[in-house]
Amino acid sequence: MSLSTITPQQALNAIQRNRLTLLDIRQPHEQLQGMVEGSIAVLPEALKDWCNQNEEIELGLICQRGVRSERLCQTLSSTFDRVVSVQGGIEAWLDADLPLVRPDSRLDAAEVQRYRAQLALPAIGIEGQVRLKRSRVLVIGAGGLGCPAAMYLAAAGVGHLSIVDHDRVELSNLQRQVLHSIERLGVNKALSAQQRLSGLNDQIRIEAHPMRADSASIRTLVDRHDLIVDGSDNYATRYLVNQACLKAAKPLVYGAVEQFAGQLSLFDFSVRQPHSSPCYECLFPAHEHAGEAPSCSERGVLGALPGLIGCMQAIETIKWLSNVGESLCGRLLTVNAMTMQFRETRLDRDPACSACAQNSS
Ligand SMILES: [Zn+2]
Repeated sequence: MSLSTITPQQALNAIQRNRLTLLDIRQPHEQLQGMVEGSIAVLPEALKDWCNQNEEIELGLICQRGVRSERLCQTLSSTFDRVVSVQGGIEAWLDADLPLVRPDSRLDAAEVQRYRAQLALPAIGIEGQVRLKRSRVLVIGAGGLGCPAAMYLAAAGVGHLSIVDHDRVELSNLQRQVLHSIERLGVNKALSAQQRLSGLNDQIRIEAHPMRADSASIRTLVDRHDLIVDGSDNYATRYLVNQACLKAAKPLVYGAVEQFAGQLSLFDFSVRQPHSSPCYECLFPAHEHAGEAPSCSERGVLGALPGLIGCMQAIETIKWLSNVGESLCGRLLTVNAMTMQFRETRLDRDPACSACAQNSS
């Protein structure tokens, strides 16, 4: 093949006669619009390796408008003389009324549009987005941490989001609990959060549980979800949530704030870290913290700080659900907002921990 470009019709003829292998070098979100039947998705950065392994075959490259494929063709032509670019790309293919197939029916057109920036991330892509869509996350508390965490999880497309909170919205909450508003003063926080989040993303299911988190209700809720985000503000609830997650072998994303200090970690009780993750009680043994911690309104908190920690809880959640990156499991991140210093300390499992030591035996 001496030409470096071919028309879509020529490409289709060659493919049908098994004389051409077509590589689709577009990004995953572009491919969701449709692909040429039999074409292979190869990212530009992986193209050279692909060509090296398949030297013998005639290759065609196709992109959205024919620009990227032509440029890559020129780059490759010094080493491979069997590469051609499809003129005008998929857009010319569509203009010529040639057929395309949908590579994936797991996301609809609106979802592809909505999550475009996330789909463009090679680490997330279609597979990661579908995993998020199929996930069920429970957020404990629609307060300073739960609000930003739930907001970004809803925006990111977690398919089923549940929020539990028994409290009602007060004026003094609005300084940091960003899902609520003055129109909803006196409304239950879980319901207020649900209302706000439905306006943000109508393609996911948002469940409100306007009730107090006691041991039985927490256990039932934890069982029904894949991951739990703890946005509670007292030791009693944190111990309950920790124990329920341990029992159900579910990952727990922990966050806490006070004044100018914040903390974050992930306790992964799932099969990914079998019996090796520390738990909340390894960090704060129950016998040392029997009393209730003073609330944010008593001790004070800089409103943007739970915003920061809550957002990081959302990031850890998205990473865990789409199975990318390195989780904070076994590490405690502390933030000092006064000096803007982030510190990381190793968090080991306490072999004498009253919660997780007996559980694993
Ligand atoms: Zn423990």
